[in-house]
Parts: sequence; C-alpha cells; structure tokens
Amino acid sequence: MILLKPSFEILNITRDPLRLIERAGRVCYRSEDKIAEGSAEKFCRMLIKNGHESVLEHAHATVEIVTSRDVTHQLVRHRLTSPSQESQRYCDYSGQVRFIIPEWADIEPADEYGDIDFENVEVMSSPEWEWLAQVFEAETGYQRLRELGKRPEQARSVLPNCTATTVVVTANFREWRHIFRLRSGSCADAEMRRVMLPLLSEMQNRVPVVFDDIGGDHGTSFALAVAESLRKQEPAPHTRRARALARLIDDCNAALALYPGQIDARYIDLAAQVFETLEKQAAAGLNG
Ligand SMILES: Cc1cc2nc3c(=O)[nH]c(=O)nc-3n(C[C@H](O)[C@H](O)[C@H](O)COP(=O)(O)OP(=O)(O)OC[C@H]3O[C@@H](n4cnc5c(N)ncnc54)[C@H](O)[C@@H]3O)c2cc1C
Repeated sequence: MILLKPSFEILNITRDPLRLIERAGRVCYRSEDKIAEGSAEKFCRMLIKNGHESVLEHAHATVEIVTSRDVTHQLVRHRLTSPSQESQRYCDYSGQVRFIIPEWADIEPADEYGDIDFENVEVMSSPEWEWLAQVFEAETGYQRLRELGKRPEQARSVLPNCTATTVVVTANFREWRHIFRLRSGSCADAEMRRVMLPLLSEMQNRVPVVFDDIGGDHGTSFALAVAESLRKQEPAPHTRRARALARLIDDCNAALALYPGQIDARYIDLAAQVFETLEKQAAAGLNG
C-alpha cells in the first residue's frame, strides 16, 4: 500500500483576472474609459466591498487535488463547481491501494508499509498502528476480491474513507471564495482544512485582492498584516490610515457575525489595540 499526505496543484487560472473582472464590471456603469494603470485592483476591491460578487464569476481556477474520498465527498457537494474525479469503478488498484494518512497520525508517507507483516503484529498500542492495520486489512480484502474474480467496481466496496483519490475542480472566483469561507474555518472538517488552508494561501498569493479577506485560520490575515505594519511605521501613521484600519475592524466584526468561529477574534483585538494607539497619537497631534 502507498501512504500519502494530501496535495494540490493549480492547473489553470484566468490570466490577468483583475483586468478581466474590471473590464466586465465596468460595462455595468459604462465606465470603461476609466480603465487605467492600477485601476483594476481598486475596482475589484470596490466590487467585493459592495457585495457585487457576480462580476468575480468571470475569472476561474482549476485545481487538481489529491486527498481522501471523505474530503472529495464533501467537496463535490458544491454545486457550482465542475469536478472530474478518478473512478473507483474503472481504476484497478490491484497491487497497490493508496491511502491518505489522517491529519492526527504521526506517520511518514511511504510505500514500504506493505512489507510489514501486520497479521503477526500482536501489540497495537497506538492509534497509528491500529490505523495501519485497518488499511492493510482493507487493501488485502480488495486484492482477495479481485483474485476471486470481482471487478474493481465490486471490490471497491471494502475500501475506507481514507482511500486516496484525485479530483480536478474548476470553479469561478466567487464560488472559490464561498468554498474557502465554508471549508477553511475552524468549523470545517480537519481533513478538509488540511487541503483548503494551503490552497487558500496560494490563491491569496496569486490574487490577493480577491482572496485576502477570506478567513480560514489566517482569520483576518490582512488586518493582522496592516496592524503589524502600522505598528512598525516610523514616523507615526497618518490619520487616513487610522480610518482605513477602523473600517477594517468593522469589516472583521461583520465577517465574524456572518461566519462565527471562522475569524480569530485575537486578530480583531490586535487591530483594535493598534487603532486605539493611533487615535491617541492623533489626539496628541502626532499624526499628519
Ligand atoms: C461545516 C459544514 C458541515 C456540513 N454538514 C453537512 C451534513 O451534516 N450533511 C449534509 O448533507 N451536508 C453537510 N454540509 C454540506 C452543505 O449542506 C452543502 O451541501 C454544501 O455546503 C454545499 O452547498 P452550498 O449551499 O454551500 O453551496 P454551493 O453548492 O457551493 O453553491 C453556492 C451558492 O450558490 C447558491 N445555490 C446553489 N445551488 C442553489 C439552488 N439550487 N438554489 C438556490 N441557490 C443555490 C447558494 O447561494 C449557494 O450558497 C456541510 C457543510 C459544511 C461547510
């Protein structure tokens, strides 16, 4: 058997997505003449702030995800995605079944576990050993059924939730935002978060304007970054920045109300503290 950790690869993403979103969105206001250097970022932020998210649907990302069947079972519930998933009916796992190591298990990815004589291991004193023995048993059952003439689609009935699978998911940016909100927060399944948090982080790197405000465990990572940069700023920050931070805190609180449990309240507290300092500085005439 082969033991894996989950992984993903962004196979395709709309080229220059902000420009496309701006181009499409400005049709609504007949303001195409306002397209200029740097205008797309501002325009997209305005759309998100105003909840005019349908315009984000013009941009897409296609992601290949290797994870467990239990995670893909949750993922394919998102009806506005287009998934293509490895078929256990057609793919034959005779020889090697792949399993995803659970997030709680301290087991290294490898294919050498197949050499362990599980039937003769008498003491299984840890959850890791118990898990290894169970997946070994499942793989053995699959192989036996195949040898007894059952087709892959019949033998698969003994495979567990942690069986590895590959799915390619295409969705527009609005739907990815929705998925990240639901699937990266602390209410989401730990196995799902294991895929979604790094994927969200990658999307935030690639298209920060569209994904930076999404929670996950980063909570208000944007707020945190702003708060930290303001904290370090010399000389004292301008009041305009203080006002921007105040708006940010409001947004964080609104998001917290909408998605309880998904935004780390500590970040809001930190931002609030920085804001308070700024206010004091402003009152003392330290700000420009
Ligand atoms: C933490 C968590 C726990 C869950 N637990 C369970 C569970 O115990 N059992 C279970 O069965 N499911 C569970 N689910 C799955 C959940 O019920 C949904 O199936 C899943 O979130 C996908 O649906 P969606 O509405 O979020 O959005 P999507 O299907 O991704 O659609 C996006 C949005 O499009 C709109 N939309 C899509 N289709 C329609 C439609 N037909 N009519 C109107 N508007 C539409 C809605 O605004 C929707 O939010 C859980 C999900 C989460 C995040």
